Amino acid sequence: MPTKAIPSTCKECYIGCGSLIHMQDDKIVRVSGNPASPHSRGAFCVKGMNAATTALDHPDRILYPLKRVGARGDGNFARVSWDDALNDISEQMARVVDSYGSKAIAGAVSNQFYDRGVAMAVLLRSLGSPNYMINQDLCQGCRSTAGVLSGVPGLPGDELKFSRCILSVGKSPSDSNIVEWMNTKSAKQAGAKLIVIDPRRSTIAQQADIWLAPKPGTDVALALAITHVILSEALFDADFVRDWCIGVDELSERAAKFTPDVAAEITGVSREHIVEAARTFATTRPGSLLMGHGIDAQANGVYTALAFSNLLALTGNIDRPGTNRIPKAVPGFREYNSFIHDPAFRMPPEKEAEIIGGVDYPFWSGPDSWGRACHNPSVIQAMLTGKPYPVRALYTSGVNIVCTYPGMQDTIKALRGLDLFVAASDQMTPTTQLADYILPKTTLLEEEAVFIEGSCLAAMQAVTPARGEARTDFEIAIALRDAFRARGLIQHDLLPWNSRREFIDFQLKDTGIAFEDVCEKGFIPIANEYETYKTNGFKTPSRKIELAPSKLRNAGYDPLPDYKTPSYAEVDAEFDLILMTGIRTMALHHSRFRNHAWSRRVANAPELRLHPEAAAKRGLKAGDWAWIETPQGKARVCLKVRVTDEVSPNIAATGMGWWYPELVGPDHGALTFNVEAAIPYGPHWDPISGSSESRNCACKVSKADLADVPIINGDDRNTVVQIPTSSDNSPAHIHSDIRDADIR
Ligand code: SF4
Repeated sequence: MPTKAIPSTCKECYIGCGSLIHMQDDKIVRVSGNPASPHSRGAFCVKGMNAATTALDHPDRILYPLKRVGARGDGNFARVSWDDALNDISEQMARVVDSYGSKAIAGAVSNQFYDRGVAMAVLLRSLGSPNYMINQDLCQGCRSTAGVLSGVPGLPGDELKFSRCILSVGKSPSDSNIVEWMNTKSAKQAGAKLIVIDPRRSTIAQQADIWLAPKPGTDVALALAITHVILSEALFDADFVRDWCIGVDELSERAAKFTPDVAAEITGVSREHIVEAARTFATTRPGSLLMGHGIDAQANGVYTALAFSNLLALTGNIDRPGTNRIPKAVPGFREYNSFIHDPAFRMPPEKEAEIIGGVDYPFWSGPDSWGRACHNPSVIQAMLTGKPYPVRALYTSGVNIVCTYPGMQDTIKALRGLDLFVAASDQMTPTTQLADYILPKTTLLEEEAVFIEGSCLAAMQAVTPARGEARTDFEIAIALRDAFRARGLIQHDLLPWNSRREFIDFQLKDTGIAFEDVCEKGFIPIANEYETYKTNGFKTPSRKIELAPSKLRNAGYDPLPDYKTPSYAEVDAEFDLILMTGIRTMALHHSRFRNHAWSRRVANAPELRLHPEAAAKRGLKAGDWAWIETPQGKARVCLKVRVTDEVSPNIAATGMGWWYPELVGPDHGALTFNVEAAIPYGPHWDPISGSSESRNCACKVSKADLADVPIINGDDRNTVVQIPTSSDNSPAHIHSDIRDADIR
């Protein structure tokens, strides 16, 4: 029997569910949800239950610093000491800086709401480089940028369960966010109306009172038509709009172009459904808005997010019970995102101005942008072409950019051509395999952290010593800083801490709260306040919600949302399907967990969802494999057909990030099975955020001949027999196996 349960927080994904780590003596027995957590109320997913324990002692875990021996990508590495690795890395980094300057160094990390994002940003800035790549251009970037521009809070947080009407757009919380899914169901059981906008009849759409299925990429026309109905029928919250919104006349004029009839023509949704949705959302209060990553990675993503955010403002559904909340702070607490923007941790403006993408996408890469991150596809091109200037060294931490960035072939070519590539990781991936040095990174149960999660200040506790010579992201950044300093490479002293605990203490030092206090229960609830805008205003230049953001207007953009025809409508007829990418699965997170048996039992192949008519037209049945091609992609990829009427006959839908760790490297099957190899990273970019249009592309689908592609036979991963490598058609080498012993 377990002797104790240590309260902590799961960070296997961004949601941060409260967890209990059950220990028997020093042995971790299992991990479960913490029912006492006000944020997650015991909700816990299959990743949370399995990932941390299986990653900890996974047979493929990287435990020591590794140095490449032989050609890049061959997969031959030799163990080296930390001292030797740091010495070599700093020496080679010095050569890059001597030849090209410090801006020739780039970094890549998942995002800035993990401490590894802070560690990466301040390390690069210490070196004098502004080029910090995050994955948020593919998920969250457009929505967050819209929030910064308009002042509308993007999420309801814990208020969701008190909503009387939930509008969900491009979101499938049953696949991606277990807490939002739980809260949606709670609200629904209490009688809330549910309006779902999604071209796919997802699980949440199946629960909807009103389901609108627009053609992919046309959502903005739908939002403007709903706006038009709310304004023309005077269904808006007149007091809130009068006191707290500016730009309503301009918005009204723009929305007038999108009558329900016009929007019906564009979107394929009937005018009656549009009107019904508008009246329901406007008159059933309090209401909240869930926007998912279906909105991001579109060529009109920010305007789409703005158009839906405006619905919240018009109906006064902001920072009141049951509405979208302004995120609450713990007085004095330094949350991760604050380090990205705090002048004390930034470089001089002239250095920041060198960021790649800053001129073309000021709201993504400029000084006031949400993430202050560079434009990823432009950095990849800078590695390949030397323009606008050469990028010759890369440090990645905890990311697998070969598998998660569209245009995989370009990413691989760019990484292969670097002078220096250092990757911090706990496992070998198609990305780390191209590295010169791999630095061993801790996994979740070996790390401690403090952060705000929903309505809590939350703690993650280290419950076991780091395995081998693994170090945390912060410890690796500190070690690199010291090695770079010894070579005179540190230009700005922006990473002042000497341990991860020092950083945590710095985050908490003005709160009067000690880390141990947060660890006691795993969380400290944050005081519940509403309508704080009445005291503080909104974070816009006018302090009001800007329905036509002044920042956009001042930068020369149209300040109002407008419809733009998706690029798939303008390609050759042979590309007769719309490819929707990015469907989530609870057992996976982006490219992660393909080497975990518990995950592969749930999801063992990259699925292509086709309507029965679309499948029959191409001679495909469930379980067949199909090639998928796009007009601008550099290759076709092979996906496994699932026949379902959850998508319409003109749509092909899939996920992202597939690779098979057990297949021979360097790509481990990704060039054959990952949809990112079939879609380009541009040139259709959102004009404001620079997000590439990778969510909706034109495509064609044809049956794959298994003689050409010896492939997984059935759903049992152990029947993998032969898969061609990227470079030849020889039988695949089984690099490692996934053991039942991994499964808890
Ligand atoms: S949803 Fe799952 S993986 Fe994400 S934080 Fe919660 S338990 Fe962990």
